[in-house]
Amino acid sequence: MTAIAVLGSTNMDLVAYVPKAPHPGETVTGREFRTVPGGKGANQAVAAARLGGEVVMIGAVGADEFGVRLRAALAASGVETAALRTVEGASGTAHITVDDEGANSIIVIPGANGRVTGLEPGDDSRIGAADCLLLQLELPLEAVLAGARAARAHGVRTVLTPAPAQPLPAELLAATDLLVPNEHEAAALTGLTDPHRAAEALLREVPEVVITLGAAGSLYAARGRAPLTVPAPRVRAVDTTAAGDTFVGALAVALGEGRPVPEALRWASVAAALSVQRPGAQSSMPTRTETDTAALAADGATP
Ligand code: AMP
Repeated sequence: MTAIAVLGSTNMDLVAYVPKAPHPGETVTGREFRTVPGGKGANQAVAAARLGGEVVMIGAVGADEFGVRLRAALAASGVETAALRTVEGASGTAHITVDDEGANSIIVIPGANGRVTGLEPGDDSRIGAADCLLLQLELPLEAVLAGARAARAHGVRTVLTPAPAQPLPAELLAATDLLVPNEHEAAALTGLTDPHRAAEALLREVPEVVITLGAAGSLYAARGRAPLTVPAPRVRAVDTTAAGDTFVGALAVALGEGRPVPEALRWASVAAALSVQRPGAQSSMPTRTETDTAALAADGATP
């Protein structure tokens, strides 16, 4: 079993479905409201746990009703939550408006996530016991850096999703083994819109890169190896929320099991393709059995 530590965010997504988003000063009547557990860290943790990883989540929820639900959602997917602290104040929330065209606007209020500024007692050994550490950028950078340093000190592989896009400190890049931006984040980091050129530029900073390309699949590049393009299975996408997080969670599980990179990428693509065919974030993530079955059906790839 792959042991995975996730140091990252938990948010409650508050989603309003409206015909058209309101302008300043305008009131519109929406169709529906949903509260859905999210946050990039929690999403990656749930994806990896459903796919058979042994996952510990490090981070914080607030001392409110959302915090209770966020913790329960993680536990229900088999994620260990002993290192998910409950801190004073509100949990992280994402206030999302989705209009009839599918376009969304989002306000994220970090809440408890913003109060994670470093590692707590016990976190260092949790990271040290893992095969890999999954990091994103929805916690304060000082916390992300502390996690990356701990992983480096223990020789634990670090997988960084640089989202939301922002300039990365040299120390964080130096402690990153695998960087997984989407094409927009790769362009923001490098100023290059061509994924091959962006990957080449990123390889000057980190030894391995996967750029996810939505329905076009993903591009893997590593120092000293020819780049590899992995197509995504052709599916009818209904909701691509958290496709990238599903992809990263799956990739971490597969690599931790010692599978060769091309096979791990194909399997992660199959898991992500399953997730886009269902609505929601954590609710759309596939199980191990579903993914293995779909991978076999897809192209004879061994599960
Ligand atoms: P993205 O974050 O949009 O680049 O998506 C992450 C990964 O999810 C991609 O590399 C694909 O493997 C998968 N994915 C996203 N959108 C689709 C889609 N429409 N059809 C199939 N797979 C998808």
